[in-house]
Amino acid sequence: MRIDIITVLPQLIESPFQHSILKRAIEKGLVEVNLINLRDYSANKQKSVDDYAFGGGAGMVMSIEPIANCINFLKSQRSYDEIIYTSPDGKPFNQKMANHLSTFNNIIILCGHYKGVDERVREHFITKEISIGDYVLSGGELAAAVICDSIIRIIPGAISDETSALTDSFQDNLLAPPVYTRPADYNGWKVPDILLSGHEKNIEEWRHEQSLERTKKRRPDL
Ligand code: SAH
Repeated sequence: MRIDIITVLPQLIESPFQHSILKRAIEKGLVEVNLINLRDYSANKQKSVDDYAFGGGAGMVMSIEPIANCINFLKSQRSYDEIIYTSPDGKPFNQKMANHLSTFNNIIILCGHYKGVDERVREHFITKEISIGDYVLSGGELAAAVICDSIIRIIPGAISDETSALTDSFQDNLLAPPVYTRPADYNGWKVPDILLSGHEKNIEEWRHEQSLERTKKRRPDL
């Protein structure tokens, strides 16, 4: 899989790809992540990528030209399954979308800034708009990092224990059961006996019950 992230602040999202699961997935060649500096596609001397909003009002708007130049160049190199714009008014992101995106070969993620991008970018280039929640961020970079993390970790081979990603919350529409590690007794706070029993089948049943109970209590909407 190849993910091209278009941003005015590439440094802002370098770090998430340099550690842990994402780093290993990149090293294994399961995914290639390219941080593309939008300013490189600005035609003017100042390398500007934004301008005043038509009609007035506070806040700058990201111009269509550099974005169009950039996306057109990328599209001339390969075909893309999806061109995503991160936006608070996009479709709320969830595990199902992450699962689906992780099956694609090539995607672009465009990170917005300021008041957002010129609407014509959304109308003519973007194929999917994603929000990571009902709150406003300063830019799309953190949203892009969230989206990338969730899709890369479920690419087969990214996590060493393959079943691990499938037992996380939201797969099967259930929240994950509680987990414990040593010591079995911390100042009198004990780990449930069943987990120490060695009875695989009973443990599995207990975990499933805990998942159901937790989902009913915390997220009945699931
Ligand atoms: N004026 C816009 C907000 C712009 S915030 C509005 O009111 O809807 C600047 C940029 O941050 C956006 O263009 C978008 O790319 C990103 N962003 C902000 N909040 C986000 C969210 N909840 N999910 C995804 N991206 C978000």
